[in-house]
Amino acid sequence: REFLLEVLDLRTWFETKKGLLSGKSQRIRAVDGVSFCLEQNQTLGLVGESGCGKTTLGRTLLGLEAASAGDVRFRGRPLLHLSRKQMDQMRRHLQVVFQDPVSSLNPRMNVMDIITEGLERFGMLEGTKQEHARRLLAEVGLDKAMIYRFPHEFSGGQRQRINIARAVSLRPDLVICDEAVSALDVSIQAQVINLLLNLQETHHLSYLFISHDLGVVSNIADQVAVMYLGRIVEIGATAQIIGEPCHPYTQMLIAALPVAGQKRAESAQVKGETPSPADPPPGCHFHPRCPKAIAVCRDTAPDQIRLRDRTVCCHLYA
Ligand code: SF4
Repeated sequence: REFLLEVLDLRTWFETKKGLLSGKSQRIRAVDGVSFCLEQNQTLGLVGESGCGKTTLGRTLLGLEAASAGDVRFRGRPLLHLSRKQMDQMRRHLQVVFQDPVSSLNPRMNVMDIITEGLERFGMLEGTKQEHARRLLAEVGLDKAMIYRFPHEFSGGQRQRINIARAVSLRPDLVICDEAVSALDVSIQAQVINLLLNLQETHHLSYLFISHDLGVVSNIADQVAVMYLGRIVEIGATAQIIGEPCHPYTQMLIAALPVAGQKRAESAQVKGETPSPADPPPGCHFHPRCPKAIAVCRDTAPDQIRLRDRTVCCHLYA
């Protein structure tokens, strides 16, 4: 099987000062041995609480953070350690939509210039900028007549559509959506997800859809990867992971999903805080919060265990 994106044992570690006066440094293992594959025309949802490393993982794939170890292949070609020029060329195929639709759009540029900037840079303008801009706006469900307007004249949902138009303008293979709908109202979220699904069908796009919200991810992803303190603790097809979660952390996330018309039970909330990645608990990082922890969990890190329909990282399945 040919994969669009192959990530193998990827690590992104940071060295930071441990307090202003101590002079000592500490290592933060933001991404700590992550592996997964993504096929063309598929979506991998990456979920976990804030601080689990999912944004650092996306930024590493985009070349915005330096990987410490591991390998990433994009269409079979190595993606890490590219020169700036090589990475610039690669960015045509690898685009991103960030969470904040306000700060990611230049307030002094009109929409036409924003969404055709990449086409101009890569010499892909055939016909006029106006024609391209009108077509792209129509593709993301905005009025073609709006091409001369500025970002502040649009709502949050419309601004995210502009971001998406810019991301798909270059006809990329992969779009990394980093909390792309998190700042939007629930009804607007659903519209933007539908737009992403339509664009995927039309242009055979793949998405790495990063979100803290498993409910949102389940509406768009073919596969789900659950991250905890830099590691993927469970990965598999969305229906299997949501319908029958194996890892105790995934079970906790699913139990905490709101059910329409029902009040969440107190016991069903995600309990405890995520520990600091600078000082993760020994053994299984999840053991201080895990209701199913056994003695071995406190001092031995679990291996990745391949089950029939998923991979899970937990001693209960060894
Ligand atoms: Fe819980 Fe142990 Fe599994 Fe970690 S390895 S999730 S602590 S049961």
